[in-house]
Parts: sequence; C-alpha cells; structure tokens
Amino acid sequence: MTVSAFSELGVSEPLCRALAAKQYTTPTPIQARTIPALLEGKDLLGIAQTGTGKTAAFVVPILQRLTASNQRARQFAPRALILAPTRELAVQIGDSIAVYGRNLSIRHAVIFGGVSQSPQVAALTRGIDIAVATPGRLLDLLSQRYVRLDSVEYLVLDEADRMLDMGFARDLRKIVAALPKKRQSLLFSATMPSDIAHLAGEMLINPVRVDVSPKEPTVQRVEQRVHFVDSTKKRALLTRLLGNPALSRVIVFTRTKHGANRVAEQLDRAGVLAEAIHGNKSQNARQRALEGFRSGRARVLVATDVAARGIDISGVTHVINYELPNEAESYVHRIGRTARAGASGVALSFCDPSERNYLRGIEKLTGRRLTVAEETAA
Ligand code: AMP
Repeated sequence: MTVSAFSELGVSEPLCRALAAKQYTTPTPIQARTIPALLEGKDLLGIAQTGTGKTAAFVVPILQRLTASNQRARQFAPRALILAPTRELAVQIGDSIAVYGRNLSIRHAVIFGGVSQSPQVAALTRGIDIAVATPGRLLDLLSQRYVRLDSVEYLVLDEADRMLDMGFARDLRKIVAALPKKRQSLLFSATMPSDIAHLAGEMLINPVRVDVSPKEPTVQRVEQRVHFVDSTKKRALLTRLLGNPALSRVIVFTRTKHGANRVAEQLDRAGVLAEAIHGNKSQNARQRALEGFRSGRARVLVATDVAARGIDISGVTHVINYELPNEAESYVHRIGRTARAGASGVALSFCDPSERNYLRGIEKLTGRRLTVAEETAA
C-alpha cells in the first residue's frame, strides 16, 4: 500500500522504496499535484511554504528523470541546478537528495559560501549530476570556471521570495542567463508578490501552477502574547518563563548577533542548554548549533532573523521575541517557526518602552492586538 500511493503518481520503484523507508505513506497535496506534471517535463510555479513536502515534490521527479536518461555525471557540468537562499536550506535539500536517491546512483554536491571552496571544487571535478547552491558561491565558482551551466536540463528556484528579499535578484538573472534555453524550470515561493510573478514570467514556459498556501495563515494559529517589561528585566523574565517545562523546544530571537551570544551565555549560566546561530559564526559552527537543537540536546536556540531564514525545525513549542524586530514582516517570519505543518504554537514577545513603536507596527501588519501577558519579571 505504502509503495502504491507514490507509484500511482508514476514514481519509479527504487524511489518508492526510499520513500517507504522514510515512512512516507501518502503523498502530500503538493506532491500529488506536482509529481505527475514534472515527470511529464512541464514547468512549474509552486506556491508553497516549508513544511508542505515541497522538497520531495521536486527532488523525486528530478532524480527519476536524471536516472532515466542514463548518463554519467560529467566534470564541472551538472545537469540539474537547485538554487536556495541560505546555506541551511541548501544543506537540507542536499540531505533530502541523499535520502530519496539512496537506491540510485545520482551524484550531488552542495555549494555555498562561508566555507573553503576546495571540497566543493573536488566534488565538481569528480563529476556531479545535481548542484544545490546558494547564488553567490555558484557565481564565484562559475567565474573561476569550476562549474559550467550549459548542460543544465533542470532548474529549481526554491524559496524564490526569500532570495529576492535577500537581494539575490541580479545574481539570479545572471545565473539564468548562463543556462540553456531548453530546460525544465521550477519556481517555488511561499508568497506571490509582483516581483516573483515577474521573475516567473521570465523564467517559466507555460507553467503548471500549484498553490498549496494555507487558507488560514500560520500566524492565525499561533497564540500570541506580549510581556511589557523593562529591558533590564528581560533576562530574569526569560529564565522565569523557562522554569515551565511546557517550553520544551524554544527559539529565542534577538535583533543582533551580539545579543544572541549574550542571551545564549546567560542561559547557559542559568543551567539551560542553549545554542546560538548568527551570521558571524562559521558554517560548521552554525550546522553544529542547529544539530544540537534539532536533536533535542539543546532546549533553546537563540537566533537572529537572517540566520533563522530557511530553517525547518519541527516541534518548536514556543518562539520568544527577546527583542522585537524593527521590521514587522520579520515578526511574522519569526512566529512562523512554531505552528509548522498544521500544529499550533505560542509566541511570546518581550516589549520594553523603547520598542512600543515596533509593537504598533506588528499589530497593524497582523491586524490583531496581542494579548497582554500577566507574568512580569519578579
Ligand atoms: P518540506 O516542505 O520539503 O521542507 O518538508 C517538510 C517535512 O515533511 C520534511 O520533514 C519531510 O521529511 C516531511 N515529508 C515530506 N513528504 C512527506 C510525506 N509524503 N509523508 C510524510 N512526511 C513527509
């Protein structure tokens, strides 16, 4: 039964076996709707967030089509290119390729900046079928001729809205210009602002459009409270709140890298295991911190907005805004880290007198007043 649900979509036996081994019994809605179209070679515009199963929706058909054409991986010349906004997301996609492709002999490499390029160049030299890349490092390797894009048959832009948010528009256009015109292109985005619609219009030919964006936005499922607290009392309040074991998997957001380190150190001193991630840490240190949190070894992850983008961690019970973000949109991104995949979650915001304006901006954007929490720092 397990195998047949995916095989009915046209997925080949070795891939079905890998999915069954992961206990994927039923295709998610985006998988059911995209896999058959992608196997037919159509372009796709997917409106979907992390948590919908979108990664398997594009990785599985690409693996199947690459395998069917039965070619050997060539030096420096991947046949599939998957672009992602952050290193973390690129690594996650690479992991998914390894898991779903375990019964196939497809080779992939993950290409991102902030680390030595040598292992990436070595993989490209050995030959890869799929490159998963962040735009900056890919362009860097392209200019050094360690990678060629003239053999790319499949292009995926994952989290395209985030890529534009992060200022990658020019890089993306440069990359797309280096690709063959004849290719299958897929674009995934959680939202559809006009710049994404424009990019889709340039990149895709007669795409199938699949929209699985939630009817009820995630923020509506998150219980949101605000604590009015003096900035000097935030630390005591955080420790006190963490005295409640119901806060079992918590992301604490700060505005600055420095703030993230400080809060993580304070928590460690208070006996709460915490990891911090922010842009100043090396890629390896960030991966280690994320793994520590994901595995449950650390109960708290302290993060800045940029560092937290694109990370998918399930089962986050609480998001705590130790400092309110100065951009209201960041608040929505932050609290979306809880209430993944239909679950509910709690977001607690610490607001000191200097942050009242930020709070007003957030309430205006989300269209609701946050409930004022009773607890204050003792
Ligand atoms: P994604 O939206 O691709 O980040 O996937 C979200 C989560 O759903 C990941 O942890 C996947 O391993 C999981 N997942 C994807 N497809 C299925 C499926 N058909 N059944 C169960 N879990 C799935």
